Amino acid sequence: MVRDTVRAFVDEKVKPIIEECHRAGRTPLELVPEMGRLNLFGASIADYGLPGLGGVAYGLIMQELERGDSGLRSFVSVQSGLVMYPIHAFGSREQKDRWIPRLATGEAIGCFGLTEPDFGSNPGGMRTTARRQGGDWVLDGSKQWITNGTLADVAVVWARTDSGVRGFLVEKGTPGFTSTDQHGKFSLRASTTSELGFHDCRIPGDAMLPGTTGLKNALMCLNQARYGIAWGGIGSAMECYHTALEYAKQRVQWNGQPIACHQLVQEKLVWMVSEITKGQLLNLQLGRLKDSGRLAPHHVSLGKRNNVWVARECAKLAREVLGANGIVDDFPVIRHMLNIESVYTYEGTHDIHGLILGEAITGIPAFNAPQAAAAPRGSAPAPTQANAAAAAASGVR
Ligand SMILES: Cc1cc2nc3c(=O)[nH]c(=O)nc-3n(C[C@H](O)[C@H](O)[C@H](O)COP(=O)(O)OP(=O)(O)OC[C@H]3O[C@@H](n4cnc5c(N)ncnc54)[C@H](O)[C@@H]3O)c2cc1C
Repeated sequence: MVRDTVRAFVDEKVKPIIEECHRAGRTPLELVPEMGRLNLFGASIADYGLPGLGGVAYGLIMQELERGDSGLRSFVSVQSGLVMYPIHAFGSREQKDRWIPRLATGEAIGCFGLTEPDFGSNPGGMRTTARRQGGDWVLDGSKQWITNGTLADVAVVWARTDSGVRGFLVEKGTPGFTSTDQHGKFSLRASTTSELGFHDCRIPGDAMLPGTTGLKNALMCLNQARYGIAWGGIGSAMECYHTALEYAKQRVQWNGQPIACHQLVQEKLVWMVSEITKGQLLNLQLGRLKDSGRLAPHHVSLGKRNNVWVARECAKLAREVLGANGIVDDFPVIRHMLNIESVYTYEGTHDIHGLILGEAITGIPAFNAPQAAAAPRGSAPAPTQANAAAAAASGVR
């Protein structure tokens, strides 16, 4: 029912407008109230009247949304996994009461500020600081590549304090807090990506998320979002496959025959449907592990890494099958092909997830230069976006 509901929403409301949004480079904000009514925001939270869906149903939401557009799925991933989840998991009662209901309906939009201009795969090096001044906190620093940054009413911002990295809630309009959009993007054009600045930005003492104790809390959020991306990637691949299949059956070349009659074309379609099926089965198992409390960060890395790679390969193959029509936005393939480049990179790049998996199977972290990698477990320097996720699970910090 969840899959069919979201599929109908995507077919009826998203597909008719998404190419225009992509061309214009605008986030389809007009869809936000309906996504709120459908409980797509914070769907796995079982509190504040939210549905508390299991892992498989939550994943199917992401799969169907990304059949529409990776930018739209990003919007929901950020709102759910990177904003509502940390507020619900690490926030005070007042913070939850203030934000969860409004974020659930879409009346308020959130963003998640971890990446900085000089620290992407390695957020452990972050320079943004929060220092105590009287009863307040004062933030200084900047964040880059932040989805929904200029749209957000509340930003979950990760900053270094005297006692480690902590999460803070910074509200739109706070003096010293600026946000500007990044322009010139050729990927995720139906999603807003921004830079955040903090210059002597004073926020109240109770703006810190009290349950945050270190960078591992930020990585717990990423783990939620990455789980959804494993499902979303397959949604993007499904859309490219179905478009290529229909096109191949209708496009006629050579003696009045559809191009689907050629063995080389069929092989591409078979490759796509085989990898999509394997990705769906992987997702189903990840969902079952999640629901039974046995999902480890490296399981999520396996899903994100494999399934986004499958989506990237399917986009390329589908574009080939469409010939020249593969490069125009009369068909969704070129948009998915451009979008998937962002998905391949964000939430831990393909290679970083490879290193998480490499550490999981060998016990040797290979994130740093070779001499550091040879050091015994537990003596590694500041955690990276990747290895801290594995470290959080294994206890290595
Ligand atoms: C559209 C978009 C939206 C985003 N939204 C958000 C958001 O909402 N919030 C947020 O905080 N961030 C966001 N990001 C940032 C994203 O998480 C980072 O881009 C990502 O973590 C990679 O960081 P980087 O771009 O700085 O690349 P780098 O870390 O500089 O990596 C560059 C290359 O070097 C490789 N590399 C790095 N370290 C290693 C290593 N140890 N071994 C081998 N190879 C390595 C990488 O795999 C990659 O190929 C977004 C990014 C994009 C593109």
